[in-house]
Amino acid sequence: MAGEGNSTEAGQRRYNFVWYRATREHDELPHLLTDATGKVWANGIPPGLIRPDVLADIESAAAELLAPQFAEIVTRTAQPLFQPIFDLTVPRMAFGRIALLGDAAFVARPHCGMGVTKAAGDAVAIVRALAGHASVEAALEAYSDERVQVGQAIVEHARHLGAYMQAQLRNDQDREMAERYRTPEAVMRETAVSRPF
Ligand SMILES: Cc1cc2nc3c(=O)[nH]c(=O)nc-3n(C[C@H](O)[C@H](O)[C@H](O)COP(=O)(O)OP(=O)(O)OC[C@H]3O[C@@H](n4cnc5c(N)ncnc54)[C@H](O)[C@@H]3O)c2cc1C
Repeated sequence: MAGEGNSTEAGQRRYNFVWYRATREHDELPHLLTDATGKVWANGIPPGLIRPDVLADIESAAAELLAPQFAEIVTRTAQPLFQPIFDLTVPRMAFGRIALLGDAAFVARPHCGMGVTKAAGDAVAIVRALAGHASVEAALEAYSDERVQVGQAIVEHARHLGAYMQAQLRNDQDREMAERYRTPEAVMRETAVSRPF
């Protein structure tokens, strides 16, 4: 990534890293999202409020589970942050004269890197629908019919890919999804090459 002052010079660039970790939704996750005062931040805890014992656990898990070089990256990070990752889908994107676009409608797991493309595709589709229909309501219905299918497909795709990448497979369906991507070629094909959405 570009560094200070948007510099891309060697020595001034930065990098970021993401470590995906599975957690139990009913007890572990609320524990991680609870600050020192006992408040639970269900949709994501502000980085400065992550408890010291949670940060210490991240460091010890890194030392235990990761290669030393990766563990060092984790332990040298002054202020790690984390956020829960959920799938979000909606059955429709139009409600009379109101429409949902982008992340407001569908949120896929990050592995497939489709969030921006999906949001832009929604924007293009809604402009096209508004230009092609006499009433706003009819335009938004047509837009919704078209883009719900795309949103569903992207979320479903990311779920399959996510099953391959998560360390713990919870059930037979997870295992079946993971099998589909069990080669480096499949992962590269699905994450590194653009898809026509
Ligand atoms: C850390 C991270 C990394 C990501 N990496 C990638 C990636 O590599 N590739 C990729 O394709 N996608 C990536 N995404 C996902 C991508 O950023 C989103 O899918 C995309 O930005 C969704 O676009 P959007 O227009 O729907 O929403 P947003 O980009 O979130 O835009 C919503 C806007 O609404 C504004 N807003 C919110 N509330 C109000 C209000 N009440 N009044 C007025 N304005 C308001 C917000 O400030 C924001 O500007 C990443 C997301 C995150 C968080």
